[in-house]
Amino acid sequence: MPAMMDGRNWFAAPLPARRRQLRPMRRDGVHVEIKGRRLLNFASNDYLGLAGHDRVRAAAAGQIEAEGFGSGASRLISGDHPLLHELEATLAAWKGYEVGLLLGSGMLANIGLLDALADRHSIIFADRRNHASLIDGARLSGARVIRYRHNDLDHLARLLAAHAAARRIVVSDGVFSMDGDCADVAGLIGLAEQHDALLVIDDAHGTGVCGPDGRGLTAAFAGHARLIEVGTLGKALGSYGAFILACRPLIEGLIQRLRTLIYSTALPPCTAAAALAALHELKKGALVARLRANIAFFRAQLHDLPLLPSATAIQPLILGEDEAALAAAAKLEVKGFFVPAIRPPTVPAGTARLRITLSAAHTREHIKALADALTDCCR
Ligand SMILES: *Cc1c(COP(=O)(O)O)cnc(C)c1O
Repeated sequence: MPAMMDGRNWFAAPLPARRRQLRPMRRDGVHVEIKGRRLLNFASNDYLGLAGHDRVRAAAAGQIEAEGFGSGASRLISGDHPLLHELEATLAAWKGYEVGLLLGSGMLANIGLLDALADRHSIIFADRRNHASLIDGARLSGARVIRYRHNDLDHLARLLAAHAAARRIVVSDGVFSMDGDCADVAGLIGLAEQHDALLVIDDAHGTGVCGPDGRGLTAAFAGHARLIEVGTLGKALGSYGAFILACRPLIEGLIQRLRTLIYSTALPPCTAAAALAALHELKKGALVARLRANIAFFRAQLHDLPLLPSATAIQPLILGEDEAALAAAAKLEVKGFFVPAIRPPTVPAGTARLRITLSAAHTREHIKALADALTDCCR
């Protein structure tokens, strides 16, 4: 009889060093508490410290108090809510797009979006370092996927010139999530125009961090008929959920086709209430300015360590081998800092790294202490 496979042997056990682990932790401002130990958190995408902001909490709590928590159904059944529309309109106006569409998460937004935009007759041109959600959406769509070298617009131009199709879409992260570097949105728009393609920019890490007033990397091109922006509420906006911004006909088409909108429960309205309050705080400008000052201060402290040239809140320190990154992360944890080691296949082989993320809520003292510990651990 052939060997039987059940839940106990379905997955071969990965090596202990390669095991991904869930670690429950409580967050308290810029600290996390793991098994009773308090660590300074340099591993959060809450770039502006808005997830715990008093007004954000109050907005969510007030909404829950008034109407409860869950939305109860898909937006196309009975789960839609005026707060979702208010947030869509507020985001679109702030970013300069005609309309917005809220989705359950960035992962759901990208998977649904590319599946809705493309079919097996389309070609998707994708940056090699794109986020997993864009890779999965492209796959699901059935489109032919052609990957171009990371941020290499000459390579992309050659590929666009060589591969024709009725519908072509260029897809890129805005701020790349593992390197902290930025797409050349102006160059990508130029190529999209020249080669009659749509451009999807996933700027999950750009909102609240990059661009004028923290409006992200696409700010100068918002409203362009070839441009679609995807963003998340789960990072700088301190909430949960995601949005797609584009021209009205495109969004109207998506409402007919986007399966992760149609077949998934609507966001709880309190998440929109929280995001609206967070956006209100973000627009005041002080938090964005403080984050930028923290990024500059951090880089000035670490000028002689192998930091990638990132101007964003994501500051990777390349250590090379997996073991070096794991050992550094473990040492930092002993010293009271939570900084994750990121290894292949998430990043290219030989570029294992510490992925440090900064927040407006960190103080100079926090950053100075981390810089000293990094210098100690990584030299
Ligand atoms: C975090 C992230 C996502 C996923 O967003 P969620 O709202 O967390 O699902 C998508 N794209 C990029 C580039 C991201 O960094």
